Amino acid sequence: MNRLPKHLTRLGGELWLTDDEPGLLTSVRITDVLFEAQSPFQHVMIADTVPFGRALILDGIIQTTVAEGFIYNEMIAHVPLSVHPRAERVLIIGGGDLGAAREVLKYPFVRSVDLVEIDQTVVEASRRYLPEIAGEALDPRLRLHFEDGARFAARADGPYDVIIVDAADPIGPATVLFESPFYEALARLLAEDGLLVAQTDSPFHHPETARRTLRALEALFPIVRPYLAVVPSYPSGLWLFTLASRRYEAVRPLDPGIRTRYATTDVMRAAFALPPYVVERIRPE
Ligand code: SAM
Repeated sequence: MNRLPKHLTRLGGELWLTDDEPGLLTSVRITDVLFEAQSPFQHVMIADTVPFGRALILDGIIQTTVAEGFIYNEMIAHVPLSVHPRAERVLIIGGGDLGAAREVLKYPFVRSVDLVEIDQTVVEASRRYLPEIAGEALDPRLRLHFEDGARFAARADGPYDVIIVDAADPIGPATVLFESPFYEALARLLAEDGLLVAQTDSPFHHPETARRTLRALEALFPIVRPYLAVVPSYPSGLWLFTLASRRYEAVRPLDPGIRTRYATTDVMRAAFALPPYVVERIRPE
């Protein structure tokens, strides 16, 4: 490799990808770069890593990996699908790796999934290089829209039973997906008993994302409940999601026919129990 791929550093003959949180650098060793492109929206890379296997990396930040991407994808998909008694119409904003869609499509009663991803390159690269995450076959219930999620939400009709906001972190094209007008548009798209789940960043490194999201969602929904998962490839591992609902909040038992590796009924129920230090960080008042 003569030209060094963007976001990688060579250290003693080895390639390293470094994530830069305030005051903390975390580096992951890269053994091979399989795909690299600058799309109109971001730098897209698929690379093999030592600790996490093959990974999707956007603007130098790991999004999902073969070794542990199922944790995030199961927790962002099965929690809302277990809280809602029968979600037939599902909207996913972001989620171009298709991992969340794949989990949602495990439910036979789901009739349609609209997935709105701004960057077609992410979907194409994931389908080609990450079939373990994206799935191999095309499910006819899945409809892909290559468009900005906020613009889609402002013009779409709904109603949706469940909306999943599987956005990258609030930098670059995903910034609009963490702002109040976007959540207001999503609330309009939800059915009377609908609910949504959004990824809410690291409560350790970016508690301000959770604070902003909780404030915006609490102004729109009577039930707003943050929940946690441990995702080893994300900085600090501790990751927050938020459920916002009009009617339902209890996690119903997961259908035993649905195979998962992280999201059991017990794990999903326990995920809503927040340690006091997390509550202090995300609700400082
Ligand atoms: N699991 C990931 C994480 O939190 O690190 C996020 C998964 S997914 C790869 C995030 C997707 O959101 C990316 O593919 C990105 O292109 C897409 N995205 C970013 N901004 C968007 C927007 N405004 N509308 C729709 N999709 C967007």
